[in-house]
Amino acid sequence: MSVIKHFVNGVSFEGDSKRTSKVFNPATGEETSRVNLASKADIDLTVEKAKKAFNDWSNKPPVIRARVLFKFKELIEKNSDELTKLIVSEHGKVYDDAKGSLTRGLEVVEFACGIPQLLKGEFTENVGTEVDSWSTRQPLGVCAGITPFNFPAMVPMWMFPLAIACGNTFILKPSEKDPSCSIKLAHLFKEAGLPDGVFNVVNGDKEAVDALLTNKDVPAISFVGSTPVAKYIYESAAKNEKRVQALGGAKNHCVVMPDCDLDQAVDGLMGAAYGSAGERCMAQSVAVAVGNIGDKLVNKLKEKVESLKVGPGSDKTSEMGPLITKEHLEKVKGYVDLGVKEGAELVVDGRNINLQGFEKGFYIGGCLFDNVKSNMRIYKEEIFGPVLSVVRVKDFKSALKLVNDHEFGNGTSVYTRDGDIGRTYANKVKIGMVGINIPIPVPMAFHSFGGWKRSLFGDQHMHGPEGVRFYTKLKTITSRWPSGIRSGPEFTIPTMK
Ligand code: NAD
Repeated sequence: MSVIKHFVNGVSFEGDSKRTSKVFNPATGEETSRVNLASKADIDLTVEKAKKAFNDWSNKPPVIRARVLFKFKELIEKNSDELTKLIVSEHGKVYDDAKGSLTRGLEVVEFACGIPQLLKGEFTENVGTEVDSWSTRQPLGVCAGITPFNFPAMVPMWMFPLAIACGNTFILKPSEKDPSCSIKLAHLFKEAGLPDGVFNVVNGDKEAVDALLTNKDVPAISFVGSTPVAKYIYESAAKNEKRVQALGGAKNHCVVMPDCDLDQAVDGLMGAAYGSAGERCMAQSVAVAVGNIGDKLVNKLKEKVESLKVGPGSDKTSEMGPLITKEHLEKVKGYVDLGVKEGAELVVDGRNINLQGFEKGFYIGGCLFDNVKSNMRIYKEEIFGPVLSVVRVKDFKSALKLVNDHEFGNGTSVYTRDGDIGRTYANKVKIGMVGINIPIPVPMAFHSFGGWKRSLFGDQHMHGPEGVRFYTKLKTITSRWPSGIRSGPEFTIPTMK
């Protein structure tokens, strides 16, 4: 059985902990490796190495840092098949989807290549008579990222390329369920010329996370995962005087208006609800059928959900792969049982799927509920599986209220041909990312990603301009050279006259 180690200070590192966790291939249900779980001592040592590397790295001109990122980008492209296969083998999603998620991560590297431009700052000549003033953004130190299982390449890449481009060093604690992709990325970054200690990957669970949260030499924590853990990270990081951005769970609504192009909406919903087996924070798990569109929408969805091709991610014809673990599969099935008990109408039941040759894989077929009500737990809670709930409402106003009343606020979409509706929805909805006739409105790398309400604790979204702000602190300098005007002591606050 192979053991996945950490990557610290430019080398593979075993750590002193004897604790390990099992890593599975979800398509077959087989245990494929074990991953070492870091102890507090392992984390403290990693922080020490990253702190040491910070001095040199933060002093490198941004253009030199950018050159390493350009090389890293090339290496990711060259190794994209291997990276994609690592995602498929440990996460389970289908190959093209895994490749797409890698590309979305790569786009953050491309954005980070522009760091000399992004860090230029602002300058005012003669802010006072013969006085100049400028603002500059400086790196924070050793930054840490804690990431979820569902995007083993993309979510870590929302964080570390930009943090490192800004001059920080970084410790990534990826999900212990699918850690191999992060380790491979660390090797590639080293090959690209990144000095040792600048990017470190430490595998682990709560013990490792807590050690990062309490370490005084870590000034900033980025987190993506479930809402209860996001809240814990936010509170603990703030208590330990750290800057924090903690992205949590979601329940994304797709509002389907009676005037929309229904086939376009159904196609959009199919990909957004069942792509990656619903294990996406931007998955659309609620379709809000407005007015008289409900029956037509459910009939069209039913036909498509019934014919979804479920299979291993390595099979190019599969549309949907397995879930991440057996426990998660049981949890998702439990929600489907619960929905039936709560009185929702189960239109398509994917619970009893059986794939020949993959009997032990963690599969569930697509599930579709109709007549879901807002007081049901299957509506209120994040299921994180291929389960789409249709809620019927009488008009647009009720749809908007439904979405705004939900505790989560990650993403949402509206399908309509009416510009007034589209604009009003985008303007009034209390959600961080909005699509108009777009099913999964994930912002590109040069914009920023983040939700509202209990989908994000903290102030700044990830990557794009917000990412640069998160990973740097602002300094404003005001200067007058001694040869300038001398005015004698001033005992009042300086003002312009
Ligand atoms: P998770 O919260 O269980 O784990 C996330 C990370 O936190 C992992 O690295 C894990 O090791 C660590 N962790 C888990 N429990 C912990 C604890 N008690 N204390 C400290 N650390 C702990 O999430 P997951 O199951 O890996 O991922 C799925 C969740 O992530 C879903 O809720 C999904 O919506 C969310 N997610 C959100 C976004 C977003 O952008 N908002 C993106 C992707 C995933």
